[in-house]
Amino acid sequence: MLTLADIGWNDAAELLARHALTLARVADGAPIPGSYWGAPEAGVIGENVYARADTPVHSLLHEACHLIVAEPQRRLRIHTDASDCQAEEDATCYLQIVLGDALPGVGREQIMADMDAWGYTFRLGSARAWFEHDAEDARDWLAQRGLLADACAQPAIPLACALEPPGANPCNAG
Ligand SMILES: [Zn+2]
Repeated sequence: MLTLADIGWNDAAELLARHALTLARVADGAPIPGSYWGAPEAGVIGENVYARADTPVHSLLHEACHLIVAEPQRRLRIHTDASDCQAEEDATCYLQIVLGDALPGVGREQIMADMDAWGYTFRLGSARAWFEHDAEDARDWLAQRGLLADACAQPAIPLACALEPPGANPCNAG
């Protein structure tokens, strides 16, 4: 399981900054503010994402993506529980996989493998099966809001955004 200790902290902070979010570093062993399930899961409060060195990268991306997909007015009111509806949950899972490519040394393959290891549940049995065959609604949801276009417009993210196929379904990640 890839954690923030394994990657460049600044890379993660810069990725979040591109989406108007702040990555707040929490000291080793300290509680993580805004963490729904508790440390080492990342936490969210408003535009801040909290993480420790032992926070899994997929968790950081998941919580950050919850804020990215939230309407700006609602984003500011988010504290700890960012999930609004299943459509947002799915969009969050989809975007977190896509943004894995934006982090040097990470990539979507690693994110999907770690999501499976962490216990995200997908109807088709794995993050990859969902992403490739059952996530059309999530992709459309993001595309309609310009969120995939934004991700793709970043030169650091080599993407084939339009390539993923049909379906729709849940990731129950909290
Ligand atoms: Zn979630």
